[in-house]
Amino acid sequence: MAFDLLLAGGTVIDPSQSLHAVADVGVQDGRVAQVGANLDSANCPDVRQISGKYVCPGLIDLHGHWYEGNLYGIDPLLCLDHGVTTAVDAGSTGYANFPEFRRTTIDHCLADVFAFIHISFMGLHAPYAEELIDLRYARPQETAEVIARHPDRAIGVKLRVGSMTANHGMAALDAALAAANAAAVPLMVHISGGADERAILRRLRPGDILTHCFHGRGNGMIAETVVPEVSQARQRGVFFDVGHGCGSFSWDSARRAFEHHFYPDTISTDLHRYSVCDPLCVTLPQVMSKMLCIGMSLEDAVRKTTAIPARVLHREREIGTLASGARADILVFDVETGDFPFTDTHLAVRRGSRRIVPTLVIKRGQVHLPGSAKIHLRDLYDSDMEVFRAIR
Ligand SMILES: [Zn+2]
Repeated sequence: MAFDLLLAGGTVIDPSQSLHAVADVGVQDGRVAQVGANLDSANCPDVRQISGKYVCPGLIDLHGHWYEGNLYGIDPLLCLDHGVTTAVDAGSTGYANFPEFRRTTIDHCLADVFAFIHISFMGLHAPYAEELIDLRYARPQETAEVIARHPDRAIGVKLRVGSMTANHGMAALDAALAAANAAAVPLMVHISGGADERAILRRLRPGDILTHCFHGRGNGMIAETVVPEVSQARQRGVFFDVGHGCGSFSWDSARRAFEHHFYPDTISTDLHRYSVCDPLCVTLPQVMSKMLCIGMSLEDAVRKTTAIPARVLHREREIGTLASGARADILVFDVETGDFPFTDTHLAVRRGSRRIVPTLVIKRGQVHLPGSAKIHLRDLYDSDMEVFRAIR
């Protein structure tokens, strides 16, 4: 078999196949053709020696904001710089603007973009007058309909509960669950200060996702012990997602959870216009490095950014795996050692000794060099600075 591209001699970590060994990866026609020792490089026009580096499936970021038609969004092309070959938009759009998001961005982006559709008709439009201040914006019927019309890209329903739902958080949850049930898709629920986390967890169904599990603001559920609703939800098959962002990751909260052997199912960035810049400059490899810093193994950090999010998306044969026939979405990375400061969203610093650094990204068989994505970030205004301070 002649490959189009051969990655030779790297350490392959593919948790979907319980694989952690030195091996070659052969790519043909945008698909993974073969993973194994000493693959035949004859007639392969692009052989890359990557001894000493790691190779894993292209990363899947389950929570980011990629619609530039509101104040949060950034161009999803950026995610390729971070080794993310599949980006999931977490409710930046609602039923009214998702079709335009799809037409202008999703259908043209080299990275694959899927979307949770916000139960609020316009999605997350602006942080200073939020999307469900008025419950009439919640549109279960239309949300389910737009998902039914775009089943290849619209993969779930999104809801944020907290200040954005005023005092009607549970009614908003009812609306979001009605849409998710009607469309037969997962619901992702954001929790922040003011959310009744226990009541929400009691309502979530198998396959639903709770994001910002280590937010560390107000009534954080991981306190001295993990509350019963958390373990019951996990047993039921609810996924717990990191969703780092610029206000939703606390070292203290994560450390206490790890002490209770409570680990996130998926590691995600919540990358958006406010978390992409100083002082956090969030990237998925950086959030994975933070997990290493508090004791997660490298293999688990890869599992929680490949195989498990692929399962959440019900696309585990296509992405998040290097099995033969899967899409050739691949990350080559270094694990640098040293003394690195890692900052949480409360600006607490913890030092770590390992850092994941992408060196080569393959998207559908095409080579992308980290740092080469040309994107434009929208200008920030004074009001953005106020928002930035409030979020934190
Ligand atoms: Zn978010």
